[in-house]
Amino acid sequence: LKLNSQNLASFASQQGSQTVQVPTYDRNDVKEGIVHVGVGGFHRAHLAVYIDQLLQKHGENTWAICGVGLRPNDAAMRDALGGQDHLYTVIERSAKGSEAKVVGSINSFLFAPDDRQAVIDKMAHPDTHIVSMTITESGYYYNENTHQLQAEHPDIQHDVSNDTDPISIFGFLYLALAKRHAQGLKPFTVLSCDNMQKNGSITRHMLESFARLRNPDLAKWIADEGAFPNSMVDRITPSTSQTDIQSLADNFGIDDAWPVVTEPFMQWVIEDKFCDGRPSFEKVGVQVVEDVHNVEQFEKHKLRLLNASHSAMAYGGQLAGFKYVHEVMEHPIYNKFVWQMMQDEVKPLLPEIPGVDIDKYCHTLMERFSNPTIMDQIPRVALNASGKIPQFIMPSIAEAIWTTRPFRRLCFVAAAWFQYINGVDDKGNAFEVDDPMREELQALAKAGGTEPHKILSVKMLFGDDLRNDKRFTDEVTTAMQLIAKDGVLETIPKYVD
Ligand code: NAD
Repeated sequence: LKLNSQNLASFASQQGSQTVQVPTYDRNDVKEGIVHVGVGGFHRAHLAVYIDQLLQKHGENTWAICGVGLRPNDAAMRDALGGQDHLYTVIERSAKGSEAKVVGSINSFLFAPDDRQAVIDKMAHPDTHIVSMTITESGYYYNENTHQLQAEHPDIQHDVSNDTDPISIFGFLYLALAKRHAQGLKPFTVLSCDNMQKNGSITRHMLESFARLRNPDLAKWIADEGAFPNSMVDRITPSTSQTDIQSLADNFGIDDAWPVVTEPFMQWVIEDKFCDGRPSFEKVGVQVVEDVHNVEQFEKHKLRLLNASHSAMAYGGQLAGFKYVHEVMEHPIYNKFVWQMMQDEVKPLLPEIPGVDIDKYCHTLMERFSNPTIMDQIPRVALNASGKIPQFIMPSIAEAIWTTRPFRRLCFVAAAWFQYINGVDDKGNAFEVDDPMREELQALAKAGGTEPHKILSVKMLFGDDLRNDKRFTDEVTTAMQLIAKDGVLETIPKYVD
């Protein structure tokens, strides 16, 4: 049965072989307090699920979501959601089995290429109090070396002198905030839900920098009156496959054009810094904390352990021919490698968080990575590496060197990425490298061979700290040469005790 409002009651009364949870709140009686940019898998498994629970259990009906897609490929999400009253199914998978929940918190969807002004107007609407986003790390135009906005980027250059057809997130946010200012409204809170250490602070800095290029007075208003909470977000959410769509139909009787598959685990630690109200997130299990320092510590644990381990499995895993994360975990030596990298190299660098048992956290991660039912794709975890490795791996290497601690395994991960950039695996099979900097990096990888110096010359990614450090470059060169000569699976035992 097709997923739409009309059929919801039939799903609840069991269509397929298993029961389905559906929203029972009145979806016509809500206000859209949140505009979310980047309606991909993660948003639909995370923020939209928390909001769905607030609507379902706590009647907070001023916080429904208007989804926004800025990029041409978001047309597919517009069409999928538009064809089913913006309802979709979250399929939670674990060893215990699958559960299906229909989520109703996304109330409408705007596709910017259809009508850019409509997106600006929506963000500027008095009912909108929060603009949240999951636009991937590369959506922030952040220079890792200078920590400044990439002001020379063509998208930013375009948006600096354009009042009607912005391209970048900052063009939209700026024009919407300018409109609110002109109307005497408060700014909305800008809430980044992307995997970046200090995601809120970076968003604030990038938007203020952009605004200063256009109108310093407005930039000051945004700085003084706006809010940009930092947050740590967590729920492993693979890309949806055709098999997922089919199994939802077979097992639950739901014909959903684009369900989302995820794990039961979910976590969100968020700084309590909102300038125009917020939902009662804590009622649905979100950890809302006063102290920014506290959020930063949670972020650091998560990015340096979970995301770094994903990187450890992604690039070496792709070269070795693995397709899914759980397959890497099933390889006994690779499994040990991931565990030892976390325990011996990353853990000693991390702050203690009261109430958090870091060993237990690492064990839970190993279990989550090993979940064979979510089928998390290696290419998904690998994509956009230029936005990931400088955040998840390089800071740990630098800190380990400065504190004279071990860092060989972390260097192996960097080396595997450098080899991966060539787009050819250990058996000589070509694969697609999905990265906004692909062309530049592939040219450097080709020119550098099994030496990392050419790639490390990209200052925007690597800065100066490490590329002139012989301890680092020697380790990476050794790993690159071993991988090039023997392949990942022959090399990795040399990195495991
Ligand atoms: P996805 O591919 O399903 O969706 C990505 C969305 O971001 C799309 O709507 C796309 O159009 C948009 N986007 C990409 N680049 C953009 C840009 N430059 N400007 C504006 N929009 C842009 O990916 P996803 O799984 O939803 O992940 C998105 C982000 O969420 C990740 O990059 C990460 O920061 C965060 N996240 C994901 C997971 C996960 O397990 N998938 C977990 C934690 C955090």
